[in-house]
Amino acid sequence: MNYNIALLKGDGIGPEIVDSAVEVLKKIGEKFGHTFNFTPYLIGGCAIDATGEPLPEETVKGCLASDSVLLGAVGGPKWDTLPGNKRPEKALLGIRAALELFTNLRPAKLYPALKDASPLRADIVERGFDLVIVRELTGGIYFGERGKREGKYGEEAYDTEAYSRMEIERIGKVAFETAMKRNKKLISIDKANVLETSRLWREVMHKMSEEYPEVEYSDMLVDNAAMQLVRNPQQFDVVVTSNMFGDILSDEASQITGSIGMLASASLGYNKCGMYEPIHGSAPDIAGQNKANPIATILSAAMMLRYSFDLGAEADCIEKAVDKVLEAGYRTADLLGGEGTALSCTEITEKILEMI
Ligand code: NAD
Repeated sequence: MNYNIALLKGDGIGPEIVDSAVEVLKKIGEKFGHTFNFTPYLIGGCAIDATGEPLPEETVKGCLASDSVLLGAVGGPKWDTLPGNKRPEKALLGIRAALELFTNLRPAKLYPALKDASPLRADIVERGFDLVIVRELTGGIYFGERGKREGKYGEEAYDTEAYSRMEIERIGKVAFETAMKRNKKLISIDKANVLETSRLWREVMHKMSEEYPEVEYSDMLVDNAAMQLVRNPQQFDVVVTSNMFGDILSDEASQITGSIGMLASASLGYNKCGMYEPIHGSAPDIAGQNKANPIATILSAAMMLRYSFDLGAEADCIEKAVDKVLEAGYRTADLLGGEGTALSCTEITEKILEMI
């Protein structure tokens, strides 16, 4: 089969890690008889430098015309002083909205080979964990009305959160379906003791749970969830939550796995064209030094094969190759914590290619 992939390398380490994932996809193409065609487009700071806009129209058109999108990361100190709507990060919200990517899937799995890298206590880590956060991506407070105004105490700023029944239902469907494919356990996280949006969220999720009697469903308040993730992460399998809560909790979940350089994500909409990206940022402190860990981006490419192209065996092949490389003891600097010899971004990519 032929697949057209838009590459949004972005800034900082973005080009290095996307190049690694491209090598892996090419190798998978050779092994399984597929052709992946790659077309690069500008996004983020590099797009600002070239066109004045963080998300040029050509990039949006190119992504809409492709079968799927692979993104590195955007942003960096060079563009930090630009006004909000001109910043590189604005492009992420724009491309998600343009592709109608209302779901973000973020797996957080503890690799046995990396358990020493987890900041959690040994007895908690020993039990392992493997969860996926289903985050609503195009609604809520990040997209609500905002502004500045004169308030009771003078100048004030405000952001508003709104969720429609439809938005909750469509993310709920993804979450229940994901639970059905895994261990049939779903926890919905909200702040229903305070927020009206959370009360509607909870009402809709409860109603949907009747359609999925096989799924063991429960609710949890977000403050409790933040505690439970570090106390007893084993209790989570599939988690569904709103845009802002998902943003925060998925970073916490990533941290307890040990390294931000390992975690992939998929953003999905109504059709098969998804956007796949590592959860970390552009790491300007190590950009251009061939030190970045490309595994999160490589695992994002594996998610693309699974969710956008229905190539499960090919995705498994990449994930197994990564497992084997880690079990063999190969590490990039971020996974070593200062001890042992670090492989560069290109060297660890070579090891993964060998294992494929
Ligand atoms: P970051 O994730 O870029 O970096 C945090 C720390 O983790 C740094 O020390 C970095 O070196 C390290 N790190 C991150 N990814 C790594 C990898 N693959 N291999 C090895 N080490 C890695 O977060 P930050 O420093 O807060 O943000 C830097 C820039 O990235 C900012 O401009 C921010 O806005 C942007 N950002 C972009 C995205 C995105 O594109 N999706 C997400 C988060 C942050």
